[in-house]
Amino acid sequence: MSVFTKIINGEIPCYKVAEDDNFIAFFDINPNALGHTLCVPKKEINYIFDMEDELYLKLMAFSKKVATALKKVVPCERIGVAVVGLEVPHVHVHLIPISKMSEMTFLEKVHPTDETFKDLANKVSAAL
Ligand code: AMP
Repeated sequence: MSVFTKIINGEIPCYKVAEDDNFIAFFDINPNALGHTLCVPKKEINYIFDMEDELYLKLMAFSKKVATALKKVVPCERIGVAVVGLEVPHVHVHLIPISKMSEMTFLEKVHPTDETFKDLANKVSAAL
């Protein structure tokens, strides 16, 4: 069982920003930039391009909705999108509010407090 399935099942906590029948979005625990969010299908699939077209396209539409809310709330130039999956073998789309290229490198990290994470999650949820 992946760490994201444990989050989906409520076994470990997350800073949730959105959820529907098929997907959940929560903040990355080790963010490149403030507001770095992961959009995850509830079905545990390892590799994004193994997804059925229908679920894949729905994941992109869900990610777009979350990105639009993030862009309203987090000061940034735009929302960068990345799919990596080398650490957690459960599909996830990284949405990263960026103003400079280094924020897409996964080398530059920020360290928000618990309060900042919670406050931002509430603001993004409200902007959906
Ligand atoms: P990757 O699989 O290479 O796309 O990276 C997985 C991402 O998941 C990393 O950016 C981690 O910081 C993030 N991550 C790992 N565990 C958790 C967790 N429990 N909650 C939120 N994000 C996580």
